[in-house]
Amino acid sequence: MKALVKESRAPGFVLKEVPVPTIRADEVLIKVRRAGVCGTDVHIHDWDAWASGRCKPSFTVGHEFAGEVAEVGSLVTDVTIGDRVTAEGHIVCGRCHLCRTGNGHVCPNTKIIGVDRDGCFAEFIAMPASNVWHLDDNIPFEIGGIHDPMGNAFHTALHDTNLPGKTVLVTGCGPIGIFAVGIAKAAGASHIVASDVNPKRLELARAMGAKSAVHPSEAEAAVRAATDGLGVDVVLEMSGVPAAIHQAFKLVRVGGRVQMLGIPSNPMDVDFATEVIFKGITVYGVVGRRMYDTWIQITQFLRSGQFDPTPVITHRFPLEQHAEAIAAIKSGEAGKVIFEVA
Ligand code: NAD
Ligand code: ZN
Repeated sequence: MKALVKESRAPGFVLKEVPVPTIRADEVLIKVRRAGVCGTDVHIHDWDAWASGRCKPSFTVGHEFAGEVAEVGSLVTDVTIGDRVTAEGHIVCGRCHLCRTGNGHVCPNTKIIGVDRDGCFAEFIAMPASNVWHLDDNIPFEIGGIHDPMGNAFHTALHDTNLPGKTVLVTGCGPIGIFAVGIAKAAGASHIVASDVNPKRLELARAMGAKSAVHPSEAEAAVRAATDGLGVDVVLEMSGVPAAIHQAFKLVRVGGRVQMLGIPSNPMDVDFATEVIFKGITVYGVVGRRMYDTWIQITQFLRSGQFDPTPVITHRFPLEQHAEAIAAIKSGEAGKVIFEVA
């Protein structure tokens, strides 16, 4: 089969023929139809410090996908050939303290497809049946293919935030931040301010329901105006940029909540006394998607029509145009970028 492979410990990907994966008794083989391209894939492509410390070439890249089940292992009971599915890409152990207390999203034994084992930028992928998530018949494969990043946004926006009537600041309008704007809106937030340095992305944030979408230099004025000077109830930090993280702590109201998804590329200073402690705020670190509360939320929001992620998808490429896909993400002009695999 055709697969996009990280072949060596150097920048770049290679599209090549590799064997179709063989499945274990508890796994299924999925024919990939659509796959989402993510910032993580760019890190692996560029072979930066994180990628070279974590990944062991050669392997097939990609972790966001949807497709049709082509084969099932002998122990699989609830997945059938022909099922339309996506899957949780974090494969957890199911046996550690965290997994056994319903916190599999932070399982220390997590293996990620397309990072620690073969991924989905290929005609077929093998997945544990326990990770498979069925798609409703009316959900297109391209929406199925972005359940992973949408799930990051659902987890960030909805975990312990109690959004109905709340004021929200979303810092960073990359694809995940833009999803979060739409989700917060659908969940009943009363006023959403979104910030980004990129005007294209602010346009998308407005289209998804932000009342004001502004440059970070204007975020404080927008937040003060919307909250009688108080600060927002909830900040969704979706950039990982230190300036935005400080702004999140500054613009959350006393006693509010900061949900942190964005990953700073280096250690950063935080003045805990003034930024966190004396503000009495709660900070929640987001890892992936909760298993499987987040997946149920995605399905229900899509099913009800409350939330439509389609406008966030801006680019579609065949696997052959992998260089163009990576370039589109790097340009900063793209929303979500999709591979049309088959
Ligand atoms: P992205 O890089 O496309 O989006 C980040 C956005 O932040 C960009 O649009 C950028 O212009 C904007 N930005 C830059 N400076 C800013 C500032 N001062 N104020 C506000 N916005 C600013 O990334 P993405 O794919 O949407 O992912 C968002 C973040 O989440 C990234 O840091 C990514 O690494 C992280 N992430 C975390 C998890 C997790 O499990 N915690 C999972 C996936 C992604
Ligand atoms: Zn575990």
